[in-house]
Amino acid sequence: MAGRMPLLPARLGVSAARSSPRASSSSSSLTAPCALRQQHQHRRPYSSQPSPRNDKVKFWPFIAVIGLGTLGYMGLVNRRKDMPQKLDAPVGELPAPAKSTPTFSPSDVTVVFVLGGPGAGKGTQCSKLVQEHGFTHLSAGDLLRAEQERPGSQFGELIKSYIKDGLIVPMEVTIQLLENAMTETLQKTGSTKGRFLIDGFPRKMDQAVKFEESVCPAKMILFFDCPEEVMESRLLERGKTSGRSDDNAESIRKRFHTFIETSMPVVDYFEKEGKVVKLDATPTPDQVFVKTQQALKDKLGANF
Ligand code: UDP
Ligand code: MG
Repeated sequence: MAGRMPLLPARLGVSAARSSPRASSSSSSLTAPCALRQQHQHRRPYSSQPSPRNDKVKFWPFIAVIGLGTLGYMGLVNRRKDMPQKLDAPVGELPAPAKSTPTFSPSDVTVVFVLGGPGAGKGTQCSKLVQEHGFTHLSAGDLLRAEQERPGSQFGELIKSYIKDGLIVPMEVTIQLLENAMTETLQKTGSTKGRFLIDGFPRKMDQAVKFEESVCPAKMILFFDCPEEVMESRLLERGKTSGRSDDNAESIRKRFHTFIETSMPVVDYFEKEGKVVKLDATPTPDQVFVKTQQALKDKLGANF
């Protein structure tokens, strides 16, 4: 029953994490005239002679303080690494600590990234795959929009402005939402095995690397290739009823820009790994679906 959690690492640095410029409390050290005189009397004259023994001794307390301070700081940093990094999740739903091994093993969990420009038809093909082949469909954009609407979300405003401008929301937010949704799905089915279509993600290299490292490596990437003019007219048509803040001419232009500059390198990266199947997304949804199924069969086997 775990509600989808907006758990986000404290290190995200997108909210109040920016440390307030706390006035460096330099306690004004007013020096009394007699103290100045004393200091002056004890000052070592400039000379090549070794300094008197008691001057040397005076440095030790400083070195000790700096040493202890450094040790203490390192201790804190290490402890923090192991702490659950969650800002506003209820107790009992804390995320796993930062880790280098993925949460899910690819032998249990199949992840297929579904990529393509905005309006290429990713969501449409995913729905068909859910209906006919029982995948779980997780749309990064839908998860972000749901988080944006969630009362009390500390990332609502941030997500809203990123989406409107067609920019990529900081990866910690999206990755945590995806991981939560995957965990929730497996909990519901009571199984360790699952098959996920991750739609519209990763859209940036850092997301791709981090997700595969900490959540689950992808088995393959479906890439829906579509000319901008076709995508634009589809999005403008969808904008008449979608109610989405980014289905308008200006946001669409920005989304195309982000797609070319930031998201295509992800496709190129996976292509070098031999994981990408490119599909022409201009025909009708049913025609594209035939090719989509074939692509899955080729990569994952007949019983994909
Ligand atoms: N988005 C993001 N990170 C992601 C996926 C989506 O920041 O990993 C944001 C981004 O601003 C994008 C918007 O969500 O433009 C809409 O994404 P969606 O996948 O819903 O759009 P589509 O490409 O399907 O039209
Ligand atoms: Mg979509």
